[in-house]
Amino acid sequence: MLSQGTLYTISAPSGAGKTSLVAKLLDCTPKLGVSVSHTTRAMRPGEQDGVNYHFVSHSDFQAMLDKAAFLEHAQVFDNFYGTSQQWVESQLAAGEDVILEIDWQGAQQVKHLMPKTVAIFIMPPSKEALNERLTGRGQDDDTVIQRRMDAAVAEMSHYVESDYVVINDDFDTALADLGAIIRSHRLTLANQQLRHQALLSALLS
Ligand code: 5GP
Repeated sequence: MLSQGTLYTISAPSGAGKTSLVAKLLDCTPKLGVSVSHTTRAMRPGEQDGVNYHFVSHSDFQAMLDKAAFLEHAQVFDNFYGTSQQWVESQLAAGEDVILEIDWQGAQQVKHLMPKTVAIFIMPPSKEALNERLTGRGQDDDTVIQRRMDAAVAEMSHYVESDYVVINDDFDTALADLGAIIRSHRLTLANQQLRHQALLSALLS
């Protein structure tokens, strides 16, 4: 695929603060967008169709799979999630950088298909902090919390597959770290040559 923008995957165990960090990162970074995934999971209170996810039925999801409409897809817990290939390709071709907030399975698939993808992993500052965030408002029993904790550990075990690791201890520091990754990546020789072709040839003429 010929593209100008950079594709980033951001993975994290649930409870690491990924969604809030990405939302804030988008607010303060020009030419950066996030892909809205398709999912078969039920909408949670406060979520909006087309904003948090495209909420689809199993048969619609399957129809998209049959049409090879997904760049990657995975089953997470009992639900299916997928990234629209067409949306991602059009954004990258327009020179926009794109973030995929996806699990380790999706990040692996994307890295395999598009090796220049920059993979970022966000980690919580401690097991205790993660446990506290996963415990929520004390409404869930110990078995549910233990299952969430096990899933978080399984997700975190894939951090070694990423290019960058951000520890979300202090929100603003983690946000600055994410911003630094994107900013420095935009300044690499290859990306500057793509973005400033005319300037660079004019300067050397
Ligand atoms: P949640 O249902 O809590 O929003 O997300 C559950 C997990 O699915 C999270 O790890 C999230 O990053 C991941 N996820 C969300 N969208 C996608 C997607 O399009 N592809 C993949 N592989 N994972 C996704």
